[in-house]
Amino acid sequence: MLASIPVDELRTSKPIRVVAEAAAKLGFPAYLVGGYVRDLLLGKPAKDIDFVCVGSGVKLAEIVAAMLPGSKLTVYKNFGTALVRWQDYSLEFVGARKESYRRHSRKPIVEDGTLEDDQRRRDFTINALAISLNQDDFGQLIDPFNGVEDLQKKIIRTPLDPDVTFSDDPLRMLRAIRFATRLGFDIEPDTVAGIIKNVDRIAIVSQERITDELNKIIMADKPSFGFKLLFHTGLLHKIFPELAALQGVEKKNGMAHKDNFYHTLQVLDNVAAVSDNLWLRWAALLHDIAKPATKRFKPGTGWTFHGHEDKGARMVPKIFRRMKLPMGEPMHYVKKLVRLHLRPIALVKDNITDSAVRRLLFEAGNDIDDLMILCRADITSKIHEKVKRYLRNFDKVEEKLRDVEARDHLKNFQPPVSGEVIMQTFGLKPDRIVGEIKDAIKEAILEGQIPNEYDKAYELMLSLGRAKGLQPVADHSQNENKKQ
Ligand code: ATP
Ligand code: MG
Repeated sequence: MLASIPVDELRTSKPIRVVAEAAAKLGFPAYLVGGYVRDLLLGKPAKDIDFVCVGSGVKLAEIVAAMLPGSKLTVYKNFGTALVRWQDYSLEFVGARKESYRRHSRKPIVEDGTLEDDQRRRDFTINALAISLNQDDFGQLIDPFNGVEDLQKKIIRTPLDPDVTFSDDPLRMLRAIRFATRLGFDIEPDTVAGIIKNVDRIAIVSQERITDELNKIIMADKPSFGFKLLFHTGLLHKIFPELAALQGVEKKNGMAHKDNFYHTLQVLDNVAAVSDNLWLRWAALLHDIAKPATKRFKPGTGWTFHGHEDKGARMVPKIFRRMKLPMGEPMHYVKKLVRLHLRPIALVKDNITDSAVRRLLFEAGNDIDDLMILCRADITSKIHEKVKRYLRNFDKVEEKLRDVEARDHLKNFQPPVSGEVIMQTFGLKPDRIVGEIKDAIKEAILEGQIPNEYDKAYELMLSLGRAKGLQPVADHSQNENKKQ
């Protein structure tokens, strides 16, 4: 069931009323259009509003900005569009236009057009709806491509021949999949066929735009839906070959491994159900990325993927760079989670020793909770009992992690005796020996031989130094920078 157009609300909404008045002053017929109208009918009124007018969109925006105190106007000369920001609204203005495309570019040649020309150039029927803001028919829906019917039927469909629409601007292929994923809609069969036919055209779209759409798919409630569409249309093979390579099951001597593509998508959905962290979702997507590269068959044992966590972690920077994703903190975070993703499971299987728990805490640091979310999400067996048993074991591991952390404070562990203290105590210049002593202290703490405290670490440092033939030349036993 679609919402009906709330005409009275539109009439009283300040920014919409102002646009209607400004348009009447200029004599430009004006309309609400695009995503705002779609979301309004879906019962989700937004604060990003698209307007189209038959006339100059920039002029209309200038008058609107002058009528809304405290607003900010930005004109995009190259595109002939303008943006007015007012309070928490973003008002986008464009003059109705006709577009034609050249083969090598997704940038159209633009000329003035009618409202219908403008609706025709839009990507999907559900994005081509307009609502009149003109006096004689205010609130009237203008729907030349049956967008309302498609909204009702939950269908993504291009207004014109999909082959032309997608060839003109191949970014629309990703937009189709993004809207389908976010709204839980199907893509109409001819439109899917249009995508399949034009997958090679994705080559003319910039990586930034591709990645932007990919991130929007990843942030949907059920991202697997989008990745299955990307896979089945063949787009995934073009934009993310490493992920497409996870698909497939091989069988030898009657032994098959699981399909790592569908497993990965399940893990991604599991993470998405409990976390909105984009980078944790990326870690889910990449956690098994090196399985194809590490796959071996050992007669008697079966399929193995030894080292896929380390190799996968090493693949992360390359993938991030190519995708133009941020190479700083987010990349390091994803790399770390990929590298550590098997460690909590290993803890479940073994007899959990304190030192193994300490090492994991030390390596995961503040990301330990996210790592545990990923690991729980990674349990995707079809056997319900098995999943439940694993999750119960995870509860035990988490309890142990909390215990050890409360006792030893290892999350943001820095060896309590710094390199500086070691150098000053023994009168050393920077030297390999300093690092060796520091490492030995760290190991002793992680192994539980000494507590994570300054005094004990200092004592150990003295004896380690003496064993290497060093003599203390200064006393730092009362360190004012004591770290706990
Ligand atoms: P959202 O803002 O939630 O992503 P939206 O539908 O508002 O969804 P925008 O990218 O803001 O999407 O674009 C606004 C409108 O402009 C769309 O509804 C559509 O009518 C049109 N549009 C945007 N990009 C394209 C495109 N590549 N090809 C054709 N029409 C487009
Ligand atoms: Mg929008």
